[in-house]
Amino acid sequence: MESLETLLSVLRQNHLKITPQRRLILEILVDDASHPTVDQVYQQVITVMPNVSRTTVYNTLHELVALGVLIEVQDMGAGGGRYDTNASQHHHLLCTHCHTLLDIERDFPELELTPVEACGYRIARHQVTFYGVCPCCQQALASQEESI
Ligand SMILES: [Zn+2]
Ligand SMILES: [Zn+2]
Repeated sequence: MESLETLLSVLRQNHLKITPQRRLILEILVDDASHPTVDQVYQQVITVMPNVSRTTVYNTLHELVALGVLIEVQDMGAGGGRYDTNASQHHHLLCTHCHTLLDIERDFPELELTPVEACGYRIARHQVTFYGVCPCCQQALASQEESI
């Protein structure tokens, strides 16, 4: 997890103004390890700054992805991107029921493409998602079945 200071210094290096909105969005992301969606970040932003638009939040998140301080994780089930301040190479565990997304801090060095499979692409990074049902949802599902 990057610290707020590190993220702010990346903005400064890239000559982006540290507006109160950008600062707030970064503060929210640094504190939130749950890989929030645009909407979840937006909901937190407007509790502090009610005048910030969803578009501003969306655009800011995209700028941060372009700078490499945020990673966008695709979550097909939840409908869109989730944002991750852990920009190091890591993988995920996704609950297909509640969409809890956890980090897996291990690399899989055997995960490589042959030149033929890569089709000439210059590979920048790869990300593996393990899909499953988390312990909480397993319990909830089991008790639902019992009550039927
Ligand atoms: Zn779950
Ligand atoms: Zn992550």
